[in-house]
Amino acid sequence: MSAEAPASPAPAAPNHFIAQQIRADLAAGKHGGRVATRFPPEPNGYLHLGHGKSICLNFGMAQEFGGSCNLRFDDTNPVKEELEYVEAIKADVHWLGFEWKRLLHASDYFEVFYLCAEKLIRLGRAFVCDLTADEVREHRGTLTEPGRNSPYRERSVEENLDLFRRMRAGEFADGSRTLRAKIDMTSPNINLRDPAIYRIRKVPHQNTGDAWCIYPMYDYAHCISDAVEGITHSLCTLEFEDHRPLYDWFLDQLDLVSDTSLTQPLRDRGLEMPVSRPQQIEFARGNLDYTVMSKRKLIALVTEGIVAGWDDPRMPTLSGARRRGFPPAAIRLFWERMGISKQIATIEYSVLEGCVREVLDASAPRRFGVLDPIKLVITNLPAGHDEALSFPNHPKDESFGTRQVPFSPELWIEREDFMEMPVKGFHRLVPGGEVRLRGVGIVRCVDVVKDGDAVSELRCTLDLDSRPGGPAADRKVKGTIHWVSARHAVAAEVRLYDRLFAVADPDDDTGGKTYRDHLAADSKRIVSAWVEPSLGDAEPESRFQFERLGYFVADRHDHGGGRVVYNRAVTLRDSYAKAAK
Ligand code: ATP
Ligand code: MG
Repeated sequence: MSAEAPASPAPAAPNHFIAQQIRADLAAGKHGGRVATRFPPEPNGYLHLGHGKSICLNFGMAQEFGGSCNLRFDDTNPVKEELEYVEAIKADVHWLGFEWKRLLHASDYFEVFYLCAEKLIRLGRAFVCDLTADEVREHRGTLTEPGRNSPYRERSVEENLDLFRRMRAGEFADGSRTLRAKIDMTSPNINLRDPAIYRIRKVPHQNTGDAWCIYPMYDYAHCISDAVEGITHSLCTLEFEDHRPLYDWFLDQLDLVSDTSLTQPLRDRGLEMPVSRPQQIEFARGNLDYTVMSKRKLIALVTEGIVAGWDDPRMPTLSGARRRGFPPAAIRLFWERMGISKQIATIEYSVLEGCVREVLDASAPRRFGVLDPIKLVITNLPAGHDEALSFPNHPKDESFGTRQVPFSPELWIEREDFMEMPVKGFHRLVPGGEVRLRGVGIVRCVDVVKDGDAVSELRCTLDLDSRPGGPAADRKVKGTIHWVSARHAVAAEVRLYDRLFAVADPDDDTGGKTYRDHLAADSKRIVSAWVEPSLGDAEPESRFQFERLGYFVADRHDHGGGRVVYNRAVTLRDSYAKAAK
């Protein structure tokens, strides 16, 4: 039976540096006492567990401080974005347990970005540049060398406005011109060396169709999006730390709070939002061992058919975790425990699995299932004996109630609960030995029937006095095993998943290896199991503990309509820790 897990302590109010900063801002009356955050995924793939950290943080801070959090699709790059991803991301955020205040798209602000660009041009802070991508790179300089000014840097405001408008009108070829900010080509921060603001891309966009052929760059679009949505705290991962001066530079130049003409297009469309001067705060990405989380690699796993899809239960995506049977509460608990800091660290996957066990131990009803069956026949009961035994659905929580489990003299037990030639310390069934059948009583194995070398049936006698309520009900034997009644059991397909990668760091590419070389050989096994009848009727996505075996979930897609399909979420214990000892 499962070990007693310690009760989870009530979550304390978060006290990481971002929570402290927000508390201090509120105390100082900054942002008018408001807290507004956003989760800004780019719809170019499914969300993974790392995104879960950002979701929990952004929505969590809004909840903690009575603020709000938007879901904003950062869809300014039309090339890699798809509607399928948009829908999947919405479903995943909801599944994790969060509700956004507003659902928005950076592409909702294309007109605002455009007006802002014209303003920068008029301020003499942006120019149209005709350098090719290679030439731009050449002019950029390095970490140790300053860059050089573009020869187009001194174009007049009139010429820049004219060229930029013609860029928008589609007069120029893809990549032939860019709009660049005019900042400082000698800045030690390369992000400030006249970064591109707009590029020409004659590609239809999943939200705006072919309305635009120029698209804004991330750094430019992101800060403006935050401001027009009234975001107060723009939480992002550490790699944007060096971009913060640019974030602030754009907002300082544009002054969206006072210059309401810039946001007029939104009001014209009935998108009324409080404009703010947001602040960017960076935190460390969450990384997990035994997995890859770069979208490029996840896409390759799917398109190369290495996994069955984005929601393959071995994928580190949120939809994979969902299909695997991980409860959303376990993912929230995990990120809450890991905390928020600026320290980059890789967390052991087993810590996540530990959270899954902890949440499921408290929340999953218990059931019986036999994954590798061998027949056990009780010879001293009439063959037609048919009985319903009552079992508690949870050993530690009476509110789960009880259920009836059918019992008859022909049972399935786990093959590994019998050993013909027992090793030392084996306390389950052996020839001539005794074991307790959970809830039934003590049986003795009196005969081992074989088919060639293989054991095909165990013939046993039941000590009737040892049955519950009987005079010897308390008699002790060392082992207790589970069973299902052969006559009543339901056939199930059980998918035993393990980690997709065999090594802790699949991104390790020394020796010319790629993550493909690190795939585990046996991360998915399918077995034909016998399970108690109630598991046949369970709703898809119901999670159970199969006693002594692990936690399982009725498959979201394949279970039901006559099929009984369960996925193993986690084993009861951490087999990796055991192996390491
Ligand atoms: P890419 O830019 O390669 O598409 P990404 O992981 O940055 O990948 P986004 O869709 O831009 O994907 O991410 C949305 C948000 O989630 C961003 O704010 C990003 O910083 C955050 N995020 C992404 N990965 C992690 C992670 N591992 N831990 C914490 N936050 C993350
Ligand atoms: Mg990104």
